[in-house]
Amino acid sequence: MKDFIRDTEIEELLRKADSPDKKQILDIIEKSKELKGLAPEETALLLQTDDPELILAISETAREIKQRIYGNRLVLFAPLYIANYCSNNCLYCGFRKDNKELSRVSLTMEQIAEEVRAIEREGHKRLLMLCGEHLTRSSLDYFIEAIKTAYDTRTERGGEIRRINVEIAPMSVPDFKRLKAANIGTYVLFQETYHHKTYQTMHPTGPKADFARRLTAMHRAQEAGINDVGLGALFGLYDYRYEVLGLLIHARTLEADCGVGPHTISVPRLEPALNAPAAIKPPRPVSDEDFKKLVAVIRMAVPYTGMILSTRESPEIRTAVFELGISQISAGSRTNPGGYSENSSEGFRAAQFNLGDTRTTDEVIHDITKKGHIPSFCTACYRLGRTGGDFMDLAKPGLIQHFCRSNAMMTFKEYLMDYASPRTRKLGEQLLTRLLEETEKPETRRTLTERLERIEKGERDIFI
Ligand code: SAM
Ligand code: SF4
Repeated sequence: MKDFIRDTEIEELLRKADSPDKKQILDIIEKSKELKGLAPEETALLLQTDDPELILAISETAREIKQRIYGNRLVLFAPLYIANYCSNNCLYCGFRKDNKELSRVSLTMEQIAEEVRAIEREGHKRLLMLCGEHLTRSSLDYFIEAIKTAYDTRTERGGEIRRINVEIAPMSVPDFKRLKAANIGTYVLFQETYHHKTYQTMHPTGPKADFARRLTAMHRAQEAGINDVGLGALFGLYDYRYEVLGLLIHARTLEADCGVGPHTISVPRLEPALNAPAAIKPPRPVSDEDFKKLVAVIRMAVPYTGMILSTRESPEIRTAVFELGISQISAGSRTNPGGYSENSSEGFRAAQFNLGDTRTTDEVIHDITKKGHIPSFCTACYRLGRTGGDFMDLAKPGLIQHFCRSNAMMTFKEYLMDYASPRTRKLGEQLLTRLLEETEKPETRRTLTERLERIEKGERDIFI
């Protein structure tokens, strides 16, 4: 499998789309409402638009598309960093090999279980497990053992992790098969930048210096049977318009070659990190306005791909972009191994980067509930085998709304019963009552009411 990103092709797309015509943009906006996605040429035109009136139309359309496909729900997860040793030298990351001031840690299985219990006590059911790239300190054997440990760990009150997504260095097809056998959900990997020259500058040494090896990782994962894969670019390294087109070309190439596109796209923006020159002074900072625009354009270009936002962003920005197309968010995060259970102020010495949103999980849930979103801890599709192409078949005719809304309400009810603060519980119960009233089909309303009552009486883990 060869490198399929051609810089000149993306540059040409952006050059041709320079100074777009208003009518052309309005036509593309209309076309995006058909929910069939957009071609790179059309996406380039939207990205090159700066006219405030058209930007407003783009935001409104993205909001409408998000609502039609995903409704109000927001799926929550917690990242779990298990080790921060790394043999790479990414200029933007606190874990880079040359950062001699970082406290290096590789958690033992007991410590991982302790971390998982702390996360479960906040009510989380989904983990994103990560580590640096290191042959001995975070080997695949170690990582697989950590996954098993996390799945097996329960709290005194029955808290459990039901889905583990992973974000680790690319590997060979046989190793991806081992990862799949460990029962992972999505395999996530960010290309960081799709611009070759910037990529080389940012990754001077270590295995990650190989652009093509990273780019083709998702194809190998699919070949190994992992059919939920998540793409991402680290915004702030190069022109954001170029990166969005790189993501889109990556998504389309995957769909053409493997029969299924990416399950998710992540949109991380650079945050300050200890001794990481490119994070302290981002080469191509992305303004808040451009960030909102790029989220909206991605939503229109690949409507059925989930979009993930982390706690790198401030609460204000998070609130603004949720409506524009984000479907999954992290909450209550720590980026230092051991950060959940130890809770010390020394954490930044072992952290990958600083957080923009330091609210607790309960505070985040309270705030999003207040804005009318349904916090969801759902893991049903993955556990029922609705992944890859099967998920897309369900998603495309809008059926996913039906499943997701009900599962979101049921898992939110569990959260309210077991973990919520009194004020969040009160607000959450009001939201559930309103959602039940708004449920159009009497049959759905009846079954939902009955299931919510079963949860109230103590039954757990009901899903459809
Ligand atoms: N080491 C693996 C890798 O590089 O893919 C696993 C995940 S790494 C711990 C997670 C991601 O964090 C990286 O892909 C990068 O995009 C992001 N990251 C690193 N430094 C960052 C920073 N200063 N601000 C925001 N995100 C950062
Ligand atoms: Fe290592 Fe990943 Fe950080 Fe690069 S981004 S230094 S590979 S942990």
